[in-house]
Amino acid sequence: MAVLPILHWPDARLCTPCAAVGPVADLAVLAANMLDTMYAARGRGLAAPQVGVLLRMFVMDVTWKEGAASPLVCLNPLIVAMSAQRITGPEGCLSIPGITTLVDRATEITMGWTGLDGAQHQKVLTGFSAICAQHEIDHLDGLVTFDRLPPAARAAALAEYVA
Ligand code: ZN
Repeated sequence: MAVLPILHWPDARLCTPCAAVGPVADLAVLAANMLDTMYAARGRGLAAPQVGVLLRMFVMDVTWKEGAASPLVCLNPLIVAMSAQRITGPEGCLSIPGITTLVDRATEITMGWTGLDGAQHQKVLTGFSAICAQHEIDHLDGLVTFDRLPPAARAAALAEYVA
């Protein structure tokens, strides 16, 4: 397997909505490489456009830093429901190195997705998992954390960021 180069914002591929994964796509190698890349970068989520692949796919592992790996590969993820309750917390992004911004997110989401084997899944995510999944799905829509900030906070974050 391989560690892939991670694109940095404002690469145009990070600002482009991704295409749905087709029913016959074999993405096992890409998924394994994305997980390798995420672990090597010490991240907890990585979306396909961050490695230049404009498909609706992300990998996530919110527990590996605590010593128990739980890799998840999501194809065509969809937020089926989200809580009215929201939380604002600090988020980093492997494509925006060195910058942490305060982003407003739903505290709980119900996410549907297709697994690598084609099986359909649905799960309620809370806590960091819910935040991470919303961040990764934003990438699939061509959005990064900057795009979730109020204008003044966005301007301040952009001024701090040197691509
Ligand atoms: Zn990100």
